Amino acid sequence: MAIAAIDRLGLSQMLVFVADEIVRREAELNALDAAVGDGDHGITMRNGFEAIRERLGQLDPATSIDGILRESGSAFLGATGGAIGVVMGKMLMAGGKALQGVHEIRAPEFRLLLTSMETSVATTGKVKVGDRTILDAIHAAAAACDSGAVDLGAMVELSASAAQEAARSTADMLCRVGRASRLGNRVLGHPDPGATSFGIMLGAMSDWIKAHL
Ligand SMILES: [Mg+2]
Repeated sequence: MAIAAIDRLGLSQMLVFVADEIVRREAELNALDAAVGDGDHGITMRNGFEAIRERLGQLDPATSIDGILRESGSAFLGATGGAIGVVMGKMLMAGGKALQGVHEIRAPEFRLLLTSMETSVATTGKVKVGDRTILDAIHAAAAACDSGAVDLGAMVELSASAAQEAARSTADMLCRVGRASRLGNRVLGHPDPGATSFGIMLGAMSDWIKAHL
């Protein structure tokens, strides 16, 4: 099987595909958040990804991979409020910083992208693995990159499955940080919305790669 790679045009198209999927899942994400919070997670994610879609449409086609990720993060940050807006925005910007000078994303660069995002989210969100946040999904996705897969498509598929499984597992965890920590065991049975969103994002990336590379 060929080792697939994503260039700057592919990255831009893939992020638009991810944005379309997040927008499509808005109601589902709002419902998850309504069970444990104020029910606006889908709205925040839609606003952020609509801003990314708009920004990508305005970028010079020669914009580098790191530039695309930085601009996406900046667009998300500028269009959203609350903790998840800052965490997601800075996460994308950190991914851009990590991929500075990279012209194609293959398996090693994808792994670097996820590990840089994990570090960023842990730092910005001041959270640890097991706190029932988006970090749990990112950590699982990054850990799945250690599988030894050399093909980008295989690696992203494994990471997406790991992120989605980790997101489902947050339903069995108590919340230790943020507003939802006051809900105690009432959060049980409901997956964390941020972790769920990250699983959706990676799932969309995997679907895009399968369809286009
Ligand atoms: Mg909320």
